[in-house]
Amino acid sequence: MVEVKTKKLANFINGEWVDVEKTTSVINPATGEAILDVPLSDASSVEAAVQAAKKAQKEWAKVPAPERAEVLYRVGYLLKERKEELSQLLTMENGKVIDEARGEVQEGIDMAFYMAAEGRRLFGQTTPSELRDKFAMSVRAPIGVVGIITPWNFPIAIATWKSFPAIVAGNAVVWKPATETPIMAYELARIFEEAGLPKGVINVVFGSGSEVGDAMVHHDDIRVISFTGSNDVGRNIAAECGRQLKKVSLEMGGKNAVIVMDDADLNLAVEGILWSAFGTSGQRCTACSRVIVHEDVKEALEERLLVEMEKLTIGNGLDSSIKVGPIINKAGIEKIKKYIEIGKEEGAKLLAGGYELTDGDHTGGNFFAPTLFTDAKDSMRIAQEEIFGPVVSLIPVKSFEEAIEVNNSVTYGLSSSIFTKDVNRVFRAQRDLDTGIVYVNAGTTGAEIHLPFGGTKGTGNGHRDSGVQALDVFTEWKSVYVDF
Ligand code: GLU
Repeated sequence: MVEVKTKKLANFINGEWVDVEKTTSVINPATGEAILDVPLSDASSVEAAVQAAKKAQKEWAKVPAPERAEVLYRVGYLLKERKEELSQLLTMENGKVIDEARGEVQEGIDMAFYMAAEGRRLFGQTTPSELRDKFAMSVRAPIGVVGIITPWNFPIAIATWKSFPAIVAGNAVVWKPATETPIMAYELARIFEEAGLPKGVINVVFGSGSEVGDAMVHHDDIRVISFTGSNDVGRNIAAECGRQLKKVSLEMGGKNAVIVMDDADLNLAVEGILWSAFGTSGQRCTACSRVIVHEDVKEALEERLLVEMEKLTIGNGLDSSIKVGPIINKAGIEKIKKYIEIGKEEGAKLLAGGYELTDGDHTGGNFFAPTLFTDAKDSMRIAQEEIFGPVVSLIPVKSFEEAIEVNNSVTYGLSSSIFTKDVNRVFRAQRDLDTGIVYVNAGTTGAEIHLPFGGTKGTGNGHRDSGVQALDVFTEWKSVYVDF
C-alpha cells in the first residue's frame, strides 16, 4: 500500500515549496479519515505566484518550442514510472475505483506525449502578400501568465489537459487545484520539478475558490482563465472575465443521455449505461444521467439493467473487486438525496437504489446506492438538472425524432450517445445531437485526449480542452508582415 509522503502540503511558487499557516484537512471519502492538510491560501500567495510566473514566462517563451516539449516528454516518462503509486493516491483522495484511477493517470501520460509532439508542430501559416516585396505569415504566440482552475473529479487528467498545452505554447501557469484532491497537484508539481521545468513556469496555489480563485480571476496580469467546475461558478468567472476582456475557457458539466433505439443491441446498451452512469459514482461531467429509450424495448432494458445493477459492488475503490466507489463528500450525498426526493415528488418511479449506505463496510464513507428511476418525463428536474451522483432516469419515447428532441431539450450540451444498428440513424444522430461529443454504440463517457473535449450551450463557451484545439485557448494569433 502506498504511503502519503507528507502530512502537510505547501504551495509551489517560483520553484520553492512555500508553507501556509491556515490549512484544512483532506478526507478520504471511502473511510472518512483525514489524510493530510492542505493550505488555504489568500490573495498574497496568488500575487507571489503571478509575479514569479510573469518573470519566468519572459524567458520560457524564448526557449525553442521543441525544447519546451522535451520537458513534457520527461514529465510523461515520470508519470509512466509512477503510474501505480499515483493511481493509488488518486483513489485515496478522490475515491474513484483503482482501475479508473489507473485510466485517469494514463490520460495524463497520453496528454504529455501528445502535447510534447505538438511542440514541433506549433504551426502558423504563410500567405502570399497582395503587395510586392512583402512576406506575410501568422504565428501562434503565447499569451503570458495563464490561470487554470481544476476540479476534484479528474484531479490529474484535467490538470494535464490544461497545463501541458499552456506550457508547451510558452506560457507560465498559476494553478488552483480543488482542495478536496490536492495530492495529485502536489505530485504533478514534483514531477515538473524533477523534469527540469524552470522555476516559476508552473506555480500551484492551494485554497478556496472564493479566495484564491477569485484573486486569480481579478488579477490583471493573468490573461487567460481555463476553468472546469460548476455552472454557477463558471458563469460568475465568465462575467468578470468579460468585464476585463480576459480570455476564458469554461467546461461546466452536462446532463448527458444515452438513447436506446428499438433495434439496439441491448446487452451492449446495458454495458454502456452501467459504465457511464455508475462509473466514478456518476461524478463525471460526461456521466449518463438520462436514458432515452424507445417504448418497444423499455421493459426489456429495465429488466436487464436491474439484473446488472444488483451485481455492482460498492465500497473502497482500493479493493479491485469494487465497482462503485464513494461520493466525494457529505455535501455531495445531501445533493443526491435532495434529487431522489424531487424525483419521487415529480412522479418518476424508483426502480432501484435511492438511499445512502452507512453500515458495515460503508461506515464512515460517503456511499450512495446506484439508483434507477423510470417513467421520467423530459420536463422533470431530475431529467434536466445535473445531479453528479449515481442516479439515472429512463425517459420513454416513441420515435427517433422524439429521442433527438428530448436529448436536445436540456440546457447543457456535453456528451450524448445512441445505440442503434441503423446506419442512417447513426449519421442523422451525429448531425442532430446538440452536444460537443457524440458516441455511437458506447456510453457517454471515456473521451480520449486527441480530440477536443467540451460542449455546447450551458456546458461551456466554445473553447475546448485537450486535442490540438486546446492550443487555441493558450495562444494568440500574431500576423507578421516583412517588407524586403
Ligand atoms: N474524461 C472524462 C470522460 O470523458 C470526463 C471528464 C469530466 O468529467 O470532466 O469521461
